[in-house]
Amino acid sequence: MKKLTILGSTGSIGTQSLEVVKRFQDEFSVVGLSARRNIELLARQAAAFNAKTICILESELKDDLYALLSNKKIEILTGRQGLLDLAGRDDIDLLVNGLVGAAGMQPTINAVTAGVNVALSNKESLVMAGAVIQDLMAQHDVELFPIDSEHSAIWQCLRGEKSSQIRRLILTGSGGPFRTLPLSAFSSITKARALQHPNWNMGAKITIDSATMMNKGLEVIEAHWLFGLPADRIDIVVHPQSVIHSMVEFADGSVKAQLGVPDMKIPIQYALAYPDHLPADWERIDFVKIGSLQFEEPDLKKFPCIRLAYDALQTGGTLPAVLNVANDLAVTAFLEDKIGFTGIPEIIESVIDRHETVMNPSLEDIDLAAEWAYKKVQKLIKG
Ligand code: MG
Repeated sequence: MKKLTILGSTGSIGTQSLEVVKRFQDEFSVVGLSARRNIELLARQAAAFNAKTICILESELKDDLYALLSNKKIEILTGRQGLLDLAGRDDIDLLVNGLVGAAGMQPTINAVTAGVNVALSNKESLVMAGAVIQDLMAQHDVELFPIDSEHSAIWQCLRGEKSSQIRRLILTGSGGPFRTLPLSAFSSITKARALQHPNWNMGAKITIDSATMMNKGLEVIEAHWLFGLPADRIDIVVHPQSVIHSMVEFADGSVKAQLGVPDMKIPIQYALAYPDHLPADWERIDFVKIGSLQFEEPDLKKFPCIRLAYDALQTGGTLPAVLNVANDLAVTAFLEDKIGFTGIPEIIESVIDRHETVMNPSLEDIDLAAEWAYKKVQKLIKG
C-alpha cells in the first residue's frame, strides 16, 4: 500500500489523482491533502479518503473548515507554513505536488529533503531550482516521477535504455489555440479565447501557458533537469492532435514515441503506480479514427516565450527562476485584465534582460532572484 499526500488536492491534478486512488483502494491510501481555498471540496475529500492531516492555505478559512469536519479527528494545518510542514513529513511513500507556479518549488524541496519521492506536476520546481533539487535527490536517495504528459512519455521511452545513447529528446506540443491565428491578430486575443485549449482540459495558469507556448519552454527546461540533456539536444515539434506525447531519438537513429489519448489521467496514474501500468477503463486510442498525424515547426515570432525559455536555459544560473516568476505574474496580470496577451512575453523579456544572473545559485540566491523579479514585474505592470 502506497501512502500519499496530495498538495493542491482540489485542483485539476489533485482531483484526478484522487480518482486514481479511488479506483485502486488496495494500492493507495491518502495521508495528507492541501488546498488553497475550496474548503467544501477539501472537507469532502478528507472524509471520503480518511485523510489524517489537511492544510488550508488561506488561514482565515480554518474555522469554517473546522465546522465542516466537526465530528472527525483530522489534524488541520494552515497557511504557507502549514503547507511546507505537510510537504516535509516523512510518514508517506509519495508526495503528489499538484501546486501551480513558483509557490510549488519549496514543497518539492521539503519532500526531497525528507527522503520522500515526488510525483511532480509542478514544473516550476525544476525550472527554478533544478540543480539544487538534483543535489538533494542524490543526497537523500529520492526519485522524481513526472506527471506532465511529455515528461511521462520520455520517461516511459527511456525505461531500459542507456542515457549515454540518447541523441535528442523531441517534445511535442499541440501549438495551443492560436497555432493558425495570424501574428497580426495576437494583440487582440481575449482572455476567454486564450482559456479554451483545443485538446487538454487543465487549470487556468497552464492553459494560458499553452496559449503563449511558454508551457513548452518550461517543459524544455524541466526535461533538461529530468533527463540530463543540454538545450541544443531538446527539440520541440508542434503536433496538433496531441496523440504522440513526446519522443526520444537514439544514437542509431531509432526513435521511440509514447502515444495515447490526450487525458492527464494516464500520466497521473503512471506516476502514482510506477513501475506498473494498472488497468483502466477510459477511452482508448483509435488510429483509424485519427487517420493522420501532423507535425510543424514552432513559430518563434508568434510564440517568443519559447525563445526566452531556451535562452534562459542556455544562460542558466538564476535566470530560469526569474523567467518563471516573471511568467507567473504576467499570466496573473493577463487573467486580471491588467495586460494584453502580447504583454506577457514583453514583460518577461524586459525582466530577464535586466537581471544580473548569479551562476551556480544556492536556494537563497534563487529566492533573492525570485523576489527581485517579483518587484520588477509589479513595477512594469503598474507602468
Ligand atoms: Mg505538458
